[in-house]
Amino acid sequence: MPLKKIIDPSKVNHFARWLTRAERIVITAHTQPDGDAVGSTLGLRHFLESLGKDVHVVLPNPFPDFLRWMPGSRDIVFYDRNKTFADRLIVGADIICCLDFNTPRRVGPMAEVLVASKARKILIDHHIDPEPFCDISISMPEMTSTSELVFRLICHLGYFSELSREAAECIYTGMMTDTGGFTYNSNHADLYYIIVELLQKGIDKDVIYRRVFNTFNESRLRLMGHLLTTMRVYPEHHAALLTLTKTEQQGFDYVRGDSEGFVNIPLGIKGVFLTGFLREDTERTLIKVSLRSVGTFPCNVPAAEDFGGGGHLNAAGGEVHGTMDDAIARFEEMLVRRAALIEEHAPHGH
Ligand code: 5GP
Ligand code: MN
Repeated sequence: MPLKKIIDPSKVNHFARWLTRAERIVITAHTQPDGDAVGSTLGLRHFLESLGKDVHVVLPNPFPDFLRWMPGSRDIVFYDRNKTFADRLIVGADIICCLDFNTPRRVGPMAEVLVASKARKILIDHHIDPEPFCDISISMPEMTSTSELVFRLICHLGYFSELSREAAECIYTGMMTDTGGFTYNSNHADLYYIIVELLQKGIDKDVIYRRVFNTFNESRLRLMGHLLTTMRVYPEHHAALLTLTKTEQQGFDYVRGDSEGFVNIPLGIKGVFLTGFLREDTERTLIKVSLRSVGTFPCNVPAAEDFGGGGHLNAAGGEVHGTMDDAIARFEEMLVRRAALIEEHAPHGH
């Protein structure tokens, strides 16, 4: 396979040495797990089980329904629903694999037991600036997804031939969702070599696409229609904003995950290359902020500096502690303050 080995071999060998002795392994990922969090954890789990290990995926809280078809997803332990059992697994693990997050804060209430556990810990992630909370840190922000990194790690370990179709389906799902169905952050040629390998493992990429992206329920589609009618567009800033209040969530039988991907929709407007999505949290008094861009505008700059969060170049997020009106004002102030930065990154011929 023409795939270069780009993970630091000393880290791969270090992990391989752990694996020879470890029996109980816990794999975890961030709260509000997305396709890559679920795909990478389950992909790695299928692989480690094929080595005869006792493996559990423990996630802080549940993931959206459109990922429920994934092989092995029914056995995932959710920390918010099964804390006692999850605590026991985390405390008793020989190895904990931390996937798709870069700081213990991203696992919410699970952070304390995770940090305190005496298990050996390995970070496998593609977010920038990881905190040093793991013994081995494989942090590669140039990867499309943690799932891609898991695939590369398995190949590096010399187990490509052992990779099952189930593992391949999970890995493909993570790569597909973190690139919006290979529509952004997806120009790396290696990506397509990997897809060839996954297809040869028997995955049906067309079925996976449909299961993930085309299984809207009626209320989600109607919610989308509603949000588009209230969308704000700022042509002078090449930007647009969608908002979703608690009251609107109730009106459309909103369940977590229903607004997944909505933030990308206004990028379909000619001239718009920066979008925001503001969602009122149902449990805490705060507004969750999502930012997306096309091209070189660094969403993670306003995410970090204006919204106390972080993320990637084209996808980032943060929070506003306040009302929806406060959050809208903060977004609009951000556009004004960042006007020069936005102009600098405007794609040619926009
Ligand atoms: P989303 O908009 O899908 O919630 O998040 C997109 C990306 O932004 C995530 O993969 C994550 O890297 C980053 N992100 C979102 N929310 C936060 C946050 O509150 N804090 C930090 N540090 N990163 C976030
Ligand atoms: Mn990811």
